[in-house]
Amino acid sequence: MNANQPLIIPRAEHPISRKMLSPNALRALYRLRDNGFTAYLVGGCVRDLLLGREPKDFDLVTDATPGQIKRLFRNCRLVGRRFRLAHLHFADEILEVATFRSAVPDEADEAEAEAVSPAAEGNAAKEERRSPRHLKSEEGMLLRDNVFGTPQQDALRRDFTVNALFYNIADFSIIDYTGGMADLESGVIRTIGEPAIRFTEDPVRMLRAVRFAAMLGFSVEAATWDAILGQSGAIAMASAPRLYEEILKLFLLGEGEKSYQLLRQTGLFAALFPGFSDWLERETDNFPHTRVGQALDRIDSRVQGGEKVEPQLLLALMFGQYLEEKGEGFRARGANLQQAVDLAIAELLEELSATVQVPGRVVGLVRHIIGYQHRFRKTPGRHPQSFLKRPGFAAALDYLCIIGEITGRERELGGWWHKYLGENPIAPAGQPAGEESAPPPAAGKRRRRRRKRPRGGGA
Ligand code: ATP
Ligand code: MG
Repeated sequence: MNANQPLIIPRAEHPISRKMLSPNALRALYRLRDNGFTAYLVGGCVRDLLLGREPKDFDLVTDATPGQIKRLFRNCRLVGRRFRLAHLHFADEILEVATFRSAVPDEADEAEAEAVSPAAEGNAAKEERRSPRHLKSEEGMLLRDNVFGTPQQDALRRDFTVNALFYNIADFSIIDYTGGMADLESGVIRTIGEPAIRFTEDPVRMLRAVRFAAMLGFSVEAATWDAILGQSGAIAMASAPRLYEEILKLFLLGEGEKSYQLLRQTGLFAALFPGFSDWLERETDNFPHTRVGQALDRIDSRVQGGEKVEPQLLLALMFGQYLEEKGEGFRARGANLQQAVDLAIAELLEELSATVQVPGRVVGLVRHIIGYQHRFRKTPGRHPQSFLKRPGFAAALDYLCIIGEITGRERELGGWWHKYLGENPIAPAGQPAGEESAPPPAAGKRRRRRRKRPRGGGA
């Protein structure tokens, strides 16, 4: 295909109809078009609609500048430092509207930008001439790319061919600059351009390749796959908060187990979690560590069934056995139960900190899930109502039940607590529940003595 001449697939030859779009996206496309702008749908939504899948969200691209978009839509907010984007806020969704961008700095354009006298520029033009707009690190990593471009340049700067298709509101056709339509039909994830260069520009694209392959059941094209094998170590160069977000997408979107297998095959897993990955390769008491895969399988079934799984449950399930073993080590060296959990989590966080940054709030919730496990063995133990009311009780019980299903260990314990909870519902806030109305003591703080012991049913 001549890259300058896109393949145009007319409306009659593809399955996307306007009824499939969100009404907000359709109206926004029309408003741009009616004001003389080019307006396309792009990215995941076009890919998913062509595959008969429901898009997560709708992204638009246009030749209107951010300033022009803002003037057209009252519900518009401009966001982003690296990419200047418009967000259109609706009651039930946010649409992203981007201006066509180029990946290559156009020197002529840069020179022209400097030649324009500031006084002669409109506000929109000034807004768009923030300098430097295009920046690469010494290693070739893309730090900033905010250069406006043509539709073709915009398609070519995208990551994979299947993610670079445009749906044109002017005539309802699909515009294909990169061969995405053919790759979609044959089920292939292929970078646009030289894979080694594209992964050097942004190593996170390697994780995205894995995610799309797993999610869509696609294969990774050979050169793209080889480049990932050769460069997987570079994933550690990406920012730790961004990698955390990508990890959640890999494991919580319904194909986590498949993603996990691909991450391990490509070396990405070892680069992201070196210590944990070494441990996974070893055995404990002659048993290989299979719990991670089994846990991800269970998470996948829930997500595919329409349930949302929280990050803290994912992390607890992924690292649970690893944390248990670390904890046992600390116990053997004299730590008490809670100290052992805290030390194990601290050690894990230290290990992750170089690559993946787990937010403190989520760490706190993981600490509850893991830390409460020993408390479940007392049925019901002292002050069961205050245990039931502790933040994170439900997640901890969920974890107990899943681990019971996977390992067969203490399988009846989760059932016992579910039954107990059914018979002893938690009192609504503000209403005393017998002896247990006082707020639960903060973990690790001194407990207040109570005058009476709860009666509680025996196991
Ligand atoms: P999802 O269904 O997960 O939202 P998506 O393809 O829409 O998948 P987004 O992260 O929403 O992915 O990005 C939207 C589009 O922006 C992509 O389809 C792709 O064209 C482009 N894009 C996103 N991230 C990158 C990247 N790191 N490098 C190049 N292009 C990217
Ligand atoms: Mg998307």
